[in-house]
Amino acid sequence: MPEKTYWIDTHCHMNDEIYRDTLDEYMQRSLSCNVRRNLVIAMNREDLEYTFEMKEKYPFIDIAFGYHPEDADKITPEDLDYMEEIINDPRIIAIGEIGLDYYWDKTYKQQQKELFIRQIEMANKVNKPVLIHSRSAAQDTYDILRQYARVKVLMHCFGESHEMMQEYLKLGYYIAFGGVVTFKNARIPKENVCSVPLDRLMLETDCPYMTPVPFRGKTNETAYVRYVGEFVCRERGIAEEVLQQQLMDNYERFFDAEN
Ligand SMILES: [Zn+2]
Repeated sequence: MPEKTYWIDTHCHMNDEIYRDTLDEYMQRSLSCNVRRNLVIAMNREDLEYTFEMKEKYPFIDIAFGYHPEDADKITPEDLDYMEEIINDPRIIAIGEIGLDYYWDKTYKQQQKELFIRQIEMANKVNKPVLIHSRSAAQDTYDILRQYARVKVLMHCFGESHEMMQEYLKLGYYIAFGGVVTFKNARIPKENVCSVPLDRLMLETDCPYMTPVPFRGKTNETAYVRYVGEFVCRERGIAEEVLQQQLMDNYERFFDAEN
């Protein structure tokens, strides 16, 4: 009999090409780690169509759609029209990941900002939450969200300072953490995951990236959200079922999704 409470991976790319040939086994591994709900991120039209097909077969997956900031220079007006149409689809429960990423390339800052704002405005219009990717762009991300977002906000793979987290919490935002918190040298993410109010916390893998200990260095997969969860239980001294129930409640409240 399945357990009553389970883990949720609130951000994963299990639609990535690397998993496609062996998806059934992949899902099996995930279910055997008691990961029974996944929010899958689609980053372009092809991704999204494939993810809709996945949902036919695995109805427990949820879907978010958004153009990633690193693609800002490639997004065409047609892409934006497509998004404007498709985000009304009830299978899409959130807009994301969207945001700013100045880590590799600052050349497209302006395009990134425009794309970010445009997608927030679309989310406002359909009243769906946004999932935020922010890297080396803390101040701009904060300023844009504060000015434009009129919907619920989840800060994905949060890696900024404690002070910044407090600012986001004040705005009512939720904070998601992934495998990084299990890394030995990740002092600040660790402190943040231990101090964030439990009713604003979410966990994720961001697979295939950010693999948690004990699999660091290998390809990540959604099953491993369990290791992030177990880590948080140990650090915060919470029983597994209690944390799982809390995270399930948070997810439902945030996405207005039924368990
Ligand atoms: Zn991601």
